[in-house]
Amino acid sequence: MTTLRERFLRYVKIYTTSDPHSKSYPSTERQWDLLKLLQSELTSIGASDVEITAHGYVLATIPATPGYEHVPVVAFLAHVDTAPDFNGDGVKPIIHANYDGRVIVLPDDPRQVIDPHNPMYANILTALGKDVITASGTTLLGADDKAGIAIIMTAAQQLLSDTSIPHGKIRICFNPDEEVGHGVDHLDIAYLGASAAYTFDGGAVGEVSWETFSADGAVVEITGVSTHPGTAHDYGMVNAVHLAGKLLGMLPREFAAPESTTGRVGFIHPTNIEGNTAAATVRFILRDHDNEKLAAKGRALQLICEALQASYPTSSVRCTISSSYRNMGYWLRDRPEIMDKLRAACADAGVVSYDEPVRGGTDGSRLTERGLPTPNVFTGGHNAHGPLEWVAVQDMQRGVDVMIALAKRWAM
Ligand SMILES: [Zn+2]
Repeated sequence: MTTLRERFLRYVKIYTTSDPHSKSYPSTERQWDLLKLLQSELTSIGASDVEITAHGYVLATIPATPGYEHVPVVAFLAHVDTAPDFNGDGVKPIIHANYDGRVIVLPDDPRQVIDPHNPMYANILTALGKDVITASGTTLLGADDKAGIAIIMTAAQQLLSDTSIPHGKIRICFNPDEEVGHGVDHLDIAYLGASAAYTFDGGAVGEVSWETFSADGAVVEITGVSTHPGTAHDYGMVNAVHLAGKLLGMLPREFAAPESTTGRVGFIHPTNIEGNTAAATVRFILRDHDNEKLAAKGRALQLICEALQASYPTSSVRCTISSSYRNMGYWLRDRPEIMDKLRAACADAGVVSYDEPVRGGTDGSRLTERGLPTPNVFTGGHNAHGPLEWVAVQDMQRGVDVMIALAKRWAM
């Protein structure tokens, strides 16, 4: 477990925050620092076909155990970037060995407290007796997804060094830019050459996800009638800013906003508004696990726009909906062996697994839609994207155990 811990501590100290506004790929140059390190580590542990593509995908192969060359090829993925939501520069990991249930105050900003008495953070009590790692208060930790990388690298090293473990050919992929929604834009699925894949990018031990949201975007463009305000009454001003406000007021917020929904209930969420008297634009994201319910949310938004348009016939209210990604469950349902083997591997490793539909997308959402079914596996990480992020070394070890058991399951 020393290797796992050392690897994780090494990776989190490397600044890899991605940037949603960047036009480059990867979105930030700094992600190359970790990508190149992983490339050289894969070479030094004896992986084959180690390469780094022009777009920053680190790829490698763990060859099949002799006699298992015919079994399906499986790929394991994790992302190197950390979320731009919170500072990721200068991460100082702190180990709270043999955690005893105490309140953890992060030294560089004592307002940052993980208090097990606070129901929001009580999940730290699942780490009693374990070695908990946190950041120091002014940064996130980056267990999302450096825990996933440490898990895959540690398991890869074991699979490469212990030739008695039966497994087929395994492909490894470390990618940039997951947190800004572009993690697999340039990944060549045919070249990766796997029939199934797993991302290690989930939360608590045992959590496995084969469903994500289906996602659409909507843009509502409102054109008003702009006149001099002094004569607005005579010249029929219709203020696009007011219409945008009315539009937002007509949304069914109580039962279809992210802040009022949980579980499998989706939402209509305005993310951006800009404009003036003459014209205004409101952007939305629409989410639901069910494609038909997602389409219904789109129709509801269209109807609201039509109603607004009808009330203001001299204005124009136009709603355009575009598809972002689809729930991977629609494809994974047709390949039940992919989750069956994952659940069996969890059981083999002594982990009680449970299905957790993701209220968002993963790199696997797009990969699955493009033809490579890719559910998501836990890493042990908690409180991602903020200063209170933590992970326990022993929980990451369960991830290593599951990955090795999964490699074996695919060879049965
Ligand atoms: Zn992640």
